[in-house]
Amino acid sequence: MSITVSPVKDSRGNIVGASKVARDITTRIESQTAMEKYIKNLETLNTVGKSISENLDVQGILQRVTDATTLLTGAGFGAFFYNNSDEKGNSFRLFTLSGAPRKIFDNMAMPRHTDIFLPTFRDKKVMRIDDITKHADFGKNAPFNGMPKGHFSVASYLAIPVVSKSGSVIGGLLYGHPEAGKFTAEHELLVVNIAAQAAVSLDNSKLFEQVKSLSEKKDEFIALASHELKTPLTTIKGYLQVLAKKEADKMSQLFVDKSLYQVEKLQTLVEDLLNMSRIESGQLNFRLEVFDIKEMLREIIETFSYSSQSHRVIEDLGNNPVIIRGDRQRIEQAILNLITNAIKYSPKAEEIFINLEVVDEKMTLRVRDKGIGLTGEQQQQLFTRFYRAEDTKGISGLGLGLYLTKQIIDRHGGIIEVSSEYGEGSEFSFTLPLALQKKNIEKAI
Ligand code: ADP
Repeated sequence: MSITVSPVKDSRGNIVGASKVARDITTRIESQTAMEKYIKNLETLNTVGKSISENLDVQGILQRVTDATTLLTGAGFGAFFYNNSDEKGNSFRLFTLSGAPRKIFDNMAMPRHTDIFLPTFRDKKVMRIDDITKHADFGKNAPFNGMPKGHFSVASYLAIPVVSKSGSVIGGLLYGHPEAGKFTAEHELLVVNIAAQAAVSLDNSKLFEQVKSLSEKKDEFIALASHELKTPLTTIKGYLQVLAKKEADKMSQLFVDKSLYQVEKLQTLVEDLLNMSRIESGQLNFRLEVFDIKEMLREIIETFSYSSQSHRVIEDLGNNPVIIRGDRQRIEQAILNLITNAIKYSPKAEEIFINLEVVDEKMTLRVRDKGIGLTGEQQQQLFTRFYRAEDTKGISGLGLGLYLTKQIIDRHGGIIEVSSEYGEGSEFSFTLPLALQKKNIEKAI
């Protein structure tokens, strides 16, 4: 009731009485309470929806769903049971529980293939029963003929199947309350909707697990295969090198040279795979030393000038030594990757450009080509392993070179960058800290 009391005054302003108005506000309070409940339900629904769609872990999804739906339905307890049925199928497996201590299920048989449970677990039916103890199928099954002793007292019963996209019943959400008639059609609707959402998340999490395990298998395979390939390749190369030194007719000499060239190519590929495996398992080690990267570049360029018939290298390496601290072999590998790519991906060009520069205690190496170039989208994916742009058909490669190069430069505290225009050409550059202050360089060499 809402009561308003107002004073009643005479013509001189004296209070001579009081008037009171009483109003029945039951409906107003009821609708306010209903509204508050509705908003609370919405909030719960929102958070559960968000958390289950973001979750990829089965336990997490099912616990959130069981907790939230137990709360929303006001059930005495809620539980998710896996549909564990084999051919004879006698048990469902309790997976998550809410609102009641787990030990109440410990000494109890699980729900069985009885007429009460089967419609949910086999026929995908929602069961909402006001008083299960009065149900026609209740108490018919031995050995308990009803609820086992010590069972959480259940009158109101609600069971909702969780059905996978494939149509199979993953399990069931079961709710109980000691009083009769507790679960309404709205409760049923709420849980049915959440169960559908949970089923999608469970399907995704299964897929995710499969993909994860496949990807792990692939990595294991690559590690094993590259390791096994390495030994016979080294042996073949050794024999070929011995043969190459022997006097032989022109044709044999040519074939031995060609074989050596191909074996070396194979070795690089295998080494890339092996290094990738080492990076993924955190086992790529570096042997640091202080050296002149300009000298290294000069040697690399010289070798390229002899071996590349297609491109000329235009270089500008500056006049002074550029001393860095790093793993000689890995840095060389990074540089070789960039130069090889510049040549490989500019088949119609005749030149590539290499520039070395020192600014602010850092060195920057730029490798530029006038080749096929890269779109913005392609540039974003370049450094991920096995990535190859669409227009590389006919150009051999595994898509590992830039991934390895970036790992090497990152691990040396450097930065690798690309700028490119599709159809015009690309420039790859990396920056590394110098090992010594400029003024100390001369002393060092
Ligand atoms: P691979 O050359 O073995 O394919 P990389 O990791 O070295 O592997 O390069 C990944 C991809 O990046 C290449 O497949 C190619 O699509 C692109 N790419 C690399 N360098 C260049 C370049 N200089 N110009 C154009 N595209 C390039």
